[in-house]
Amino acid sequence: MSALSLPIAELARLVQSGSVTAEAVARESLKVIADRRGLNAFLHVSEQATLDRAGELDARRARGEALGPLAGVPIAIKDALCTLDAPTSSGSKILAGWRSPYDATVVARLRAADALLVGKTNMDEFAMGSSNENSAFGPVKNPWDETRIPGGSSGGSAVAVAAGMTLGALGSDTGGSIRQPAALTGTVGIKPSYGRVSRYGLVAFASSLDQVGPFARDVSSAARLLSVIAGHDPRDSTSSTEGVPDYEAACGREVRGLRVGVPEDYFGPGLDPEIADQVRAAIARLEADGARVVPIQMPHTRHGVATYYVLATAEASSNLARFDGVRFGLREERPGADLGALYDATRSAGFGPEVKRRILLGTFVLSAGYYDAYYAQAERVRALIRRDFERAFAEVDVIATPTSPTAAFPLGERVEDPLAMYLADVYTLPASLAGVAALSLPVGRTRAQLPIGLQLIAPAFAEARLLTVAAACERSSA
Ligand code: GLN
Repeated sequence: MSALSLPIAELARLVQSGSVTAEAVARESLKVIADRRGLNAFLHVSEQATLDRAGELDARRARGEALGPLAGVPIAIKDALCTLDAPTSSGSKILAGWRSPYDATVVARLRAADALLVGKTNMDEFAMGSSNENSAFGPVKNPWDETRIPGGSSGGSAVAVAAGMTLGALGSDTGGSIRQPAALTGTVGIKPSYGRVSRYGLVAFASSLDQVGPFARDVSSAARLLSVIAGHDPRDSTSSTEGVPDYEAACGREVRGLRVGVPEDYFGPGLDPEIADQVRAAIARLEADGARVVPIQMPHTRHGVATYYVLATAEASSNLARFDGVRFGLREERPGADLGALYDATRSAGFGPEVKRRILLGTFVLSAGYYDAYYAQAERVRALIRRDFERAFAEVDVIATPTSPTAAFPLGERVEDPLAMYLADVYTLPASLAGVAALSLPVGRTRAQLPIGLQLIAPAFAEARLLTVAAACERSSA
């Protein structure tokens, strides 16, 4: 049996015990990555570094050392996360070839857990997008139908896992960028609560929303990854000191007695009826397992898209001002080169059209005459969306909704229509605006065999409860 088809805990155990060598796993993962190059999931493959690292792990084990919880597990890293041993571009030409002088905290934690970091994954430029078509390095293809998008912006990470190149991946989710590609590729993706996971070393998009989280093929594998990356980081002032519970143990608990809220506001027009049916069927299976299904109201859901695109673009316009072509990018590639010439060269490599659109929009909503009408107003609506969640969580333990209104759509379909593209995140944005915990897990297929995702949302720092319900769904969908 292929090592790459195992749950993470099982593979780690085999490597820890020496039944499988890390080197064999590394070779298998690198081979699948090479065989599936056409999916364009990776921007950089760390071939030699991965083999060297695997050799070290095997040698340490042979010396009798105990290996960590991700021993020999191949993991892919979204290119928005800084890595010492591979370039970091965030899907942008403006950063192409740049090497970070440090590892993101989450990357350092994966290394400390003895994972194999096989490479950096393709993504929408600066994490702006829902289809991966905004990457400066070409779109990623959905492995279930290569004429379709994999979702975005963490599309490369989702595809690495869905196509069996790696057992896990890290992505970032600002408004849906982990959950939506997880839904569209049939993987599990977790957007942790704001503050649960360090963002030190994550290229910033919208700082009041960005979170790092894992992808895996099953719930308990995602739980193991989350337990490795979660927890306080003194280098990130927004990271919480809240303790990290045993997420894997949570996967084995019963759902009996838990209250599952179902907001009708998430099942309105625009939702593909096939998805509505399967999501409702998954909720009915939870009820059959002893959960109590409670209809709830989340009346401000419909303002999520407008609110998000004011706040996220405002924050992005301020975060991206640092990419002025002087401090990052080509200069790293050509040390000592004339600064003025490099400035011009970087500028012409420039930002792609979606990033430009967002900088313009964000600068506009923050400008003196419009600040109150747009930015301040959006902050007020954000408070109402947050209150929807507070009220809901007074009555229920988790909320269940579709993750995406449609299954994977064809490449090119929405490129010319930014508003249609923005609607892809209509169900994921509210949880981001509220800063609560959310995940997506696969619950079925459309008639065309495209994956369908169920979104589960829990209060901030209730990831364990989320995983309990997700694991129960997974067992009942099998
Ligand atoms: N699709 C949304 C956007 O384009 C969310 C992206 C994300 O979560 N990074 O902004």
